[in-house]
Amino acid sequence: PSSAASDVYKRQLYNSAWKIWRARHAGGFARRAGALRDARERFTRRARDSHEERDTLFMETVARIFESCREDRLPASRAGRVAVAQEAGAACTEVSESRARRIPFSVEMFPPKGQLTLDAARKVVEGLRAASPDFISVTCSAGGSGNGHGGQTVAIAELIQNEAATPAVAHFTCVSATASLVATEVEALRAAGVETVLALRGDLAPGQEPADFRYAYELIPRLKAAGLCVGAAAYPEGHIDCLDPRENIRHLRAKQDAGADFFITQLFFNNDDFYRFREAAESAGVAAPISCGIMPFLGKSQIQRMVFLCGSSLPAPIIKLLAKYEDDPVALRQAGIEYACNQLVDLGRHGVNGLHVYAMNQPDIACAAAEAVAAAGLR
Ligand code: FAD
Repeated sequence: PSSAASDVYKRQLYNSAWKIWRARHAGGFARRAGALRDARERFTRRARDSHEERDTLFMETVARIFESCREDRLPASRAGRVAVAQEAGAACTEVSESRARRIPFSVEMFPPKGQLTLDAARKVVEGLRAASPDFISVTCSAGGSGNGHGGQTVAIAELIQNEAATPAVAHFTCVSATASLVATEVEALRAAGVETVLALRGDLAPGQEPADFRYAYELIPRLKAAGLCVGAAAYPEGHIDCLDPRENIRHLRAKQDAGADFFITQLFFNNDDFYRFREAAESAGVAAPISCGIMPFLGKSQIQRMVFLCGSSLPAPIIKLLAKYEDDPVALRQAGIEYACNQLVDLGRHGVNGLHVYAMNQPDIACAAAEAVAAAGLR
């Protein structure tokens, strides 16, 4: 279809889907509301999207069902409406599962501390590689650990890229990054064959002043101008310094406008937070893919630190697990990994653009996540 005709068509479909979703009177219908809400989210996205073959397939499948049950033609009986909703839900699930198989899966590592950084990193990379990630990202410490600019990030990215034959994403922070340091480091990345970076502000140490770049959106154009593919951070629950959700989305959009090609989120434990955030981001015109960053909780002190650093909220099921396994660290770790795996599978089934695991240099976490995602038929 021509683009204009197709836009009208999509809008009609969207309106039908929305009306049907709102018409959830019957119990059965309510149970299917989740699937229908997904359909609505997809419609919103697709309406701005290209006419790729797989999108057309999705549109056609759901359209057939929705067209046959526009509001004025909805079955009068409650049972009839339930049947329609179930059919639509099944179609959405079927298509979302076939789409989901293509979800990129990636993992994050950090430069190991200590003298033998590169040797230790090599072991971590080998372990992570067993999870067959689509890429491995490597952090760049903005703090004083010696792993910031001029540290091991570029060398480890090179190792990932060349020795492990896996695409690498090098994190790149504003903190202490002068324009000339950016130029030097970009050259080093290029020489190493690393083509993708994650542009971040980083966190200033107390008393430290920003160098040439204050915010990530200022650094992004510089990295783009060097020909790199540039990602940036996204915060489903808001950044710790910015708790106004609308401002959070405006800053996300500013990073896209500055040239960000994709986003990776801060960790979160409640997927509904992400679904709400995705909807708000899309409504604000954020079209760059957003990969979901998931970190398993492994122990009480680790989770306390994470909550303190990131401001992530802890849903009741996690609090119960922490209480249940308070005296059993092994079982708690296992419960944390299982919780993260379930999160990833649910996200995959909701058609997210990417799954990114904060594996904390522990390959068994990456492998467990990869297996769970694969077992659910999502990759
Ligand atoms: P920005 O996007 O610059 O935002 C920083 C703060 O400023 C936010 O509160 C934002 O809302 C606000 N803001 C943005 N623009 C404006 C504006 N124009 N005016 C006023 N306020 C504004 N840290 C590291 O040190 N090393 C890493 O390797 C690293 N990797 C990370 C990977 C991921 C996926 C994520 C999510 C975070 C990572 N971090 C890392 C942490 C990150 O550096 C911190 O969260 C940091 O506080 C914010 O970085 P940012 O790039 O999101 O900043």
